[in-house]
Amino acid sequence: MKKFIVLICFFSIVGIAFALPLTYSTSPSSPTSISSNKVLYTGQVEHLFTHCLLAYPALALSEENPMQSDYDRDCITPNEFKALLRELYENNYALIDINKLFEEKDGKIVKATLEVPEGKKPLVLSFDDVAYDQRKMKSGMVDKIIVDENGKLASQTEITWSTKPSVEISYDNEFIPILEDFVEKHPDFSIDGAKATICLTGFDGILGYRTSLKNTENRIQEINSAKIVVEKLLEKGWNFACHSFGHYHMTKISDEKFKEELENWKSQVEPIIGQTSIYVYPYGEWELTNEDGTPTTKHQMLLDSGFKLFCGVGVAPFFSYLPYSKNSTKTLFMDRTPIDGYTLRTQKDSLSRLFEVEDIYDYEFRPNKEI
Ligand SMILES: [Zn+2]
Repeated sequence: MKKFIVLICFFSIVGIAFALPLTYSTSPSSPTSISSNKVLYTGQVEHLFTHCLLAYPALALSEENPMQSDYDRDCITPNEFKALLRELYENNYALIDINKLFEEKDGKIVKATLEVPEGKKPLVLSFDDVAYDQRKMKSGMVDKIIVDENGKLASQTEITWSTKPSVEISYDNEFIPILEDFVEKHPDFSIDGAKATICLTGFDGILGYRTSLKNTENRIQEINSAKIVVEKLLEKGWNFACHSFGHYHMTKISDEKFKEELENWKSQVEPIIGQTSIYVYPYGEWELTNEDGTPTTKHQMLLDSGFKLFCGVGVAPFFSYLPYSKNSTKTLFMDRTPIDGYTLRTQKDSLSRLFEVEDIYDYEFRPNKEI
């Protein structure tokens, strides 16, 4: 049996299916490519994921914050993220676009042949629940991602907890601007301009914009603002994955409810970000086939919706076809190694293949100083 860790992510709400009269082109301009000799790569492909960063760690991890233990378990701080990037870079990892890992051959989704710059190991990074959900606002994360007046990606947060309330625009406290800056300084950390995968839900909008149907006030305006950010992200080599619409447990909801979920994704998120082939299971909980090896109704719905690569959660790298049984319909499946407070404290040995936990752990802000 393949083991997987169930991650506790935060939410579940449902919107109403509705067809949007919006069209949007997602063709990105080509990111700058780095000229380097590429060689065939047959080793493992690492895929690491975390959540939105604890942009204001003193607030996020304070004892008075009701989110403290969730944040401490599921997230990392900006200092940890920066140290993580440095260690991965020093260990010769380089970011690859997840969509380059597979291709369609004779109607089947198969692993693609990989070529990477000599001496580099391909790495996928992904970030879950990038909604900046209103229920978590003002508890230590940023409010939203923006494109500033110079066309740069930044975070924006209304600082209400200080004696002097203000709106802060930062390039240094969320994964998007931090990674942008890191790749700018270390272009060989990115293969062909690739950045990372942003895993979205839709129940409370995306990227800090209230694009879901439950916003009846200024939804169109929010969608238009979100599109500006999406377009910039695509241009800069980022891509998107579906992390469901309402963040439900796949195996616990009915087929009917699952269908509604997908319809909500198609009508409320896809028109803003375009179609994605990547499905990232909430909580790392998944189902693929019935006992006779045929796809379950829910998995068939995902296949019919155009998803091609399916991502679970596991501390060891796994990129292969599931299920193993001979007569089953095979699905290309990739596990993602969680990088969060919980795994930093409990998976030190396993993570040492990637970095030394002691080198990145935020002893300053984490309540638990012993690891
Ligand atoms: Zn999640």
